[in-house]
Amino acid sequence: MKTPAEYIESLRKLKLNVYMFGRKVENLVDDPIIRPSMNAVAATYSMAMKPEYQDIMTATSHITGKKINRFTHIHQSNDDLVKKSKMGRLLGARTGCCFQRCVGMDALNALSMTTYDIDQKHNTQYNKRFLKYLQYVQENDLVCDGAMTDPKGDRSLPPHKQEDPDMFLRVVEEKKDGIVVRGAKAHQTGAVNSHEIIVMPTISMREEDRDFALSFALPSDTKGITYIMGRQSCDTRKLEDGDIDRGNVVFGGHEALVIFDDVFVPWERVFMYREHEFAGQLVEQFASYHRQSYACKVGVGDVLIGAVQTAAEYNGIQKASHVKDKIIEMNQMNETLYCGCIACASEGHRELSGTWYVDTLLANVHKQNVTRFPYEIARLAQDIAGGLMVTCPSEEDLKSPEVGKWVEKYLRGTSTVPTEHRIRILRLIENITLGTAAVGYLTESMHGAGSPQAQRIMISRLVNMKEKQDTARRLAGIFEDRG
Ligand code: SF4
Ligand code: FE
Repeated sequence: MKTPAEYIESLRKLKLNVYMFGRKVENLVDDPIIRPSMNAVAATYSMAMKPEYQDIMTATSHITGKKINRFTHIHQSNDDLVKKSKMGRLLGARTGCCFQRCVGMDALNALSMTTYDIDQKHNTQYNKRFLKYLQYVQENDLVCDGAMTDPKGDRSLPPHKQEDPDMFLRVVEEKKDGIVVRGAKAHQTGAVNSHEIIVMPTISMREEDRDFALSFALPSDTKGITYIMGRQSCDTRKLEDGDIDRGNVVFGGHEALVIFDDVFVPWERVFMYREHEFAGQLVEQFASYHRQSYACKVGVGDVLIGAVQTAAEYNGIQKASHVKDKIIEMNQMNETLYCGCIACASEGHRELSGTWYVDTLLANVHKQNVTRFPYEIARLAQDIAGGLMVTCPSEEDLKSPEVGKWVEKYLRGTSTVPTEHRIRILRLIENITLGTAAVGYLTESMHGAGSPQAQRIMISRLVNMKEKQDTARRLAGIFEDRG
């Protein structure tokens, strides 16, 4: 397994083509806006080194028997799935933001099942190729970006009917030794901190869409791949001197738009090629795993609740009954989220490939809760934090020789707490509920791993309504056979 320092060094060796604010980023590792997101991924390495977290952060590879980072593991039991949920909470609480490495783990696990199932049906060799790739990822302890979301253009049209056929990533040329692909993947979490990019289709497909039914993996610095960094609110605060106004002084997340401009993929890296009838399965399996992964929001919720309790104490309002009650409510919602990600893991089952898969109904219910509770937790956090969270002068004003003394004097809460500490904790709450980390805690909670309606469709498909109705009729004394 890599140390965090080895991880950062390994990124220095990559030559990713990255743009931000219209300019090419020459030194990703030391870029002040990107570096906090790299630090968050590095936490997935450092925590795996700590003796007290070995059980959660590491696993035994089912292909080599070696000890590996859990982020590269294929789940072999319910216990593995439960530990995955615990790992998400642990790292969310450690970083207070999106630590980005789950998408690759979820892509690997979904592919371990889908490649097996395609081979069973079509007598292909995808699973063998995949396992070879998996071993490479495990032995080098790599970060993989799981790239699913296509730009999608006109949402009312399937891929093959789009006016611009590149709206869904597709094969444009087949060669003897591989394929050439073109298209883009949007909202790619952790893309520029990844060694590999694993591409999957974004929706289920019909035969006419088979050129879009692709899955493959490439090194992230492959020729023809370009990354365009997404903006986050308050992102340029990271360029300022000082660290108070950043809120989270060490960690952050990032997303990027990834362009594939006629990129060559060798056959040994192709895991699905025009098998349109398996596109939907791969999407569903990845999405269910990723809906479980939103255990991370529980960990970020832990940070937010801790910050709010601290802010209340700094203001001297911690004993007010409504404040105590609101904090209880925040905890109740946060632990309800935890129940969901533990439940879908505990109720998981073994698939034919041997991989353990979450209970999809419960994973969807969990993610549906994630689209709501963090918003409500954030609302209560802002209620208790008070308006100063958004009207507070800058760090430079606090440190100004002219006005600093007034900021210090008038923004003080209880007399035992330095004004700077009060401002710092409010900036952290601002960061999670309005700033750079709100991308992960709020909007990604809404749309990541599928927007709310996607889970509602799955819930309606997966509940056993007939059984519920039969039970109700029986108890009501209705025994007629309705077929
Ligand atoms: Fe992982 Fe959560 Fe970030 Fe998704 S949002 S990559 S599940 S930390
Ligand atoms: Fe996500």
